[in-house]
Amino acid sequence: MPLVVACAAPGVKGAPAEKPQVCVLDAEPELIPVPEPIEGELNEAFELPDSPEWWAPAPMDEERTRYRAALVARLGSEQAVLPRAIIERQHAIHVRLSGDGGREAENTGAVLEGRAGTIAPASCLEWRLFQRQARRFPMLERPTEMGAYVLRGHGRIRVYLSGADRVGGKLRREVSSRVAEEVAKGFAPVAHLHNHPFMFDRKPGDRTWATEETREDVAGALAPSLTDVQAYRSMREAFGLQGAWVTNGLDTARYSAEDFDRLSAWP
Ligand SMILES: [Zn+2]
Repeated sequence: MPLVVACAAPGVKGAPAEKPQVCVLDAEPELIPVPEPIEGELNEAFELPDSPEWWAPAPMDEERTRYRAALVARLGSEQAVLPRAIIERQHAIHVRLSGDGGREAENTGAVLEGRAGTIAPASCLEWRLFQRQARRFPMLERPTEMGAYVLRGHGRIRVYLSGADRVGGKLRREVSSRVAEEVAKGFAPVAHLHNHPFMFDRKPGDRTWATEETREDVAGALAPSLTDVQAYRSMREAFGLQGAWVTNGLDTARYSAEDFDRLSAWP
């Protein structure tokens, strides 16, 4: 009676092998080789069933609870980890940056004024991708970034996830060409996701690219950088990117393709 087993409610005892795992990134990814990978670089392709659990708010599992508690401790209060407070904190630093760097305040300002993006708790899919990177490099002790293209079609989700031991992403042609092929096969490029890690105890010239002006910027803010928006616009041009998500593992800002024009980019 395989149908009966498959329909058993989650948590029902007696059929553990048949119980479907929902919103767990346990599928074996395909590895995409790249020339001269940087330290810790991995480029992976996942195929997942497009079930509603991926799009629901992320569970407060043990790792996420611990991460949030550590952030509250570092930032000093519950209020300080709210996404708006984090962006306000960064905006105050951005407006004081000298030269072109000060233009970063255009994007933090646009988000604070509600001109672009919406902010909500991270979805389960976003959390699982963030968590995969955080398990490789502990986010608060050794901040790194991951980036992912998320595509939907034919009842499936395809994710191209890239990450390395580095703050800042590396966009690979080997990966983006695969994304363009999927789009040609009818998959919708719903979003590019990346994380903005928190960065504490920064020193000018360190691995977080800190300068004297940015050393007090703890980051983790959900506004895209000028560089991010420049990349989003070229992905929209190249394969019709429909949106962009920026997460810190707790909350995510989601931008539409129209938002890319309401935000600022280089040059
Ligand atoms: Zn970014």
